Amino acid sequence: MTLELKRSQLYIDGEFVDPSSNEWFGSVDPYTGEEWVQIPAGTADDVDSAVCAAHDAVFDPDSEWARCSPTDRGRYLDDLANALAERAEMHAEMDVRDNGKPIREMAGQHAAIPEYYRFYAGLADKIRGATISPDDPTKRVFTNREPIGVVGAITPWNSPLMLAAWKVGPALAAGNAVVLKPDEKTSTSALAFAEVVDSIGLPDGVINVVSGYGTEAGQALVRHDLVDKVSFTGGTETGAIIAEEAGKHLKPTSMELGGKSPNIVFADANLDNAVNGALNGIFRSVGQSCSAGSRLLLHEDIFDEFVEELRTLADEIDLGDPKDPATEMGPIASREQFEKVSKYVDLGLESGATLVYGGEPPEVDMGSDLFFQPTIFAHVDNGSRIAQEEIFGPVLSVIEFESETEAIRIANDTEYGLSAAVWTEDIRRAHRVAERIRAGRVWINNYRNSGVTAPQGGYKGSGWGLENGIEAVEEYLKTKTVWLELDETTENTFRSN
Ligand code: NDP
Repeated sequence: MTLELKRSQLYIDGEFVDPSSNEWFGSVDPYTGEEWVQIPAGTADDVDSAVCAAHDAVFDPDSEWARCSPTDRGRYLDDLANALAERAEMHAEMDVRDNGKPIREMAGQHAAIPEYYRFYAGLADKIRGATISPDDPTKRVFTNREPIGVVGAITPWNSPLMLAAWKVGPALAAGNAVVLKPDEKTSTSALAFAEVVDSIGLPDGVINVVSGYGTEAGQALVRHDLVDKVSFTGGTETGAIIAEEAGKHLKPTSMELGGKSPNIVFADANLDNAVNGALNGIFRSVGQSCSAGSRLLLHEDIFDEFVEELRTLADEIDLGDPKDPATEMGPIASREQFEKVSKYVDLGLESGATLVYGGEPPEVDMGSDLFFQPTIFAHVDNGSRIAQEEIFGPVLSVIEFESETEAIRIANDTEYGLSAAVWTEDIRRAHRVAERIRAGRVWINNYRNSGVTAPQGGYKGSGWGLENGIEAVEEYLKTKTVWLELDETTENTFRSN
């Protein structure tokens, strides 16, 4: 499907509206370098309208959503899944044009998004409280599980609609309403998602989409008194700002932040598999992934052989137009991100690490100056900045270790704790290492598997709260305890003695 340059609108309280600023900004296709769509610059006033609509949808006793049965909530989520499946190809193309990720990856991602909504459709009528036995036999106690209320969902640019699904699916299953603020660089698919929401007849105000700048629309969402929870995915620095701001307003948050994930290969591993895992771990999505395996820890006995094989395979990666299904790596998503990657390559060289492959844009003209070669640094000191800081680009730091203990120590020597992998044929070692790594998700003899049924979340600087799985619904529920009196008389405690 060919997409024409289009001026989108915000989606607030079931209506498509122009931003109150009457301003739009261009979204740049990183491959062509051209603005290909106009994104509404939502303001604090727009956020206020959206939040008030969402608040009414959840808390007004007469609202359709507040009266909606759990089974009907599930039906809406199912309808959303079906409508998204019909438009998956178009949404994939939008994300490719916004962030330059290869269509072969984004097509798969968008084909999977409906499954996320279907999973939560199935959970909507399975939310239960508990019956508690108090010591006093004249009392009965039970708990109700209730929606938190209005969820402010703030999402990043690397997997725009997938990361929104991780929040919207469980939030709606639990009966909440959502105001979604997508990243300014990649808002197109979120605004198109609003059309899907509208097409299924979801009650007004349940999902609102307000695009705009983080420091305006995003900040207004975090600060708004009627937002009951902020669910954020993005960089650790921004996460810290949002958590502080939310803390001042006593709002709970979930944070899915950055990573510097260790991918540990022992000498007894199946090295053919491990080298593929290392390659996929860092260079898929052009390295622009929170769970990228950006630190490769290799046992000294296999170090040289493994690095050489990695170099050969990196050289075979096809860079090109991200819209071409044959392309394996597209351009970097934005100029800002390109400059960040270049800066870290300079820091790597200054640190004394060995540049094994890449380190600069390709020599041939790729049709865009935002391409960067897959880059491998070997003999990296884990204390250096390329090993400690999230680059969010196609730059791999390879670190040598001598023993299992040293591998675990290096793996944990980071402020992050999102993901990790261990490659070994020794089942005992695999379990030992997986247990000792301080990360929310560990892969054994594979890298980067994820799915809606399995929860994931960060340790340490990678955040808190869980996304996906049954557990994600808990993030959007509150527990109310109800005490019921069985005695027919209520004692006057002031007269009892
Ligand atoms: P950010 O983390 O800054 O942005 C993510 C979202 O937060 C965007 O929607 C952004 O809005 C919004 N935002 C920014 N500032 C505020 C604020 N003060 N209040 C509320 N919302 C705000 O991502 P960047 O694009 O700036 O990337 C910076 C770095 O973060 C990357 O280089 C990478 O290292 C890391 N990152 C990690 C991701 C992950 O999945 N872990 C995903 C994306 C980035 P706006 O659209 O205006 O930017």
